[in-house]
Amino acid sequence: MARRKKVYEGRAKILYEGPEPGTLIQYFKDDAAVPAAPAPSSGVEGKGVLNNRLSEFFMSGLNAIGVPTHFIRRINMREQLVRMVEMIPLEVVVRNFAAGDISDRLGIPEGTPLPRPIVEYYYKDERLNLPLVSEEHIIAFNWANQQDLDDIVALALRVNDFLSGVMLGVGIRLADFRIEVGRIWEGDFMRLIVADEISPDSMRLWDLRAAELPDREGQTRDPGPLPDVYTELARRLGVMPSNVTHATPKPSLIN
Ligand code: ADP
Ligand code: MG
Repeated sequence: MARRKKVYEGRAKILYEGPEPGTLIQYFKDDAAVPAAPAPSSGVEGKGVLNNRLSEFFMSGLNAIGVPTHFIRRINMREQLVRMVEMIPLEVVVRNFAAGDISDRLGIPEGTPLPRPIVEYYYKDERLNLPLVSEEHIIAFNWANQQDLDDIVALALRVNDFLSGVMLGVGIRLADFRIEVGRIWEGDFMRLIVADEISPDSMRLWDLRAAELPDREGQTRDPGPLPDVYTELARRLGVMPSNVTHATPKPSLIN
């Protein structure tokens, strides 16, 4: 492959300059996810391959129902072509059930259904450990304006409905997830679109199937974390045609 310019390397992905202006290539690594993310983090072999596929699956599903995302097309096992955006420096979290940060902060037991989906913003600065911020902070510090925030909430709730429905169809509860949003310009118009990735690294998933099975005492359990989340999610959604995980990656025809 011809040499290409690396634009950025984060924990989960490497960004390269894309083949045309306004595009980027995202390379999905196997490394751990952001530790403060509301989801399991791990250094699982094959994780990058699965997240590339899963992010493609969710983003193209969103595109198909008219929720704009940066996804253009998958290039190979670990790479996808996306539209370059100007990132809004926020992690937008939507919570359907209490867990993690909100349970700790407000003393709500993990697993409690929330009265309605709650949208939260975390300032994307890892040195500060991604602090929770309010709309006031976002507007005062000019990270986004009120109109942007209205658009972000609308996007986040549409993504929530889509992802919750897809997950429910395969026996999984979407407790919470996060997205990142960016700006693109089309002529004089600016639009906000879903960027970064949508994968198990950005979602908290609970297994409803395991919860339905009675244990030895005949009791049903509360939904717990989905075991082996990358492989299991890919398997249930039928997005992984070959078992590339936990095996030495071999050349395989998955295009
Ligand atoms: P981090 O460790 O900072 O979360 P990642 O490993 O997730 O980084 O790499 C992805 C980086 O690329 C993130 O900083 C994210 O904000 C940025 N990014 C994601 N999608 C796009 C896009 N379409 N255009 C520009 N930047 C993007
Ligand atoms: Mg990231």
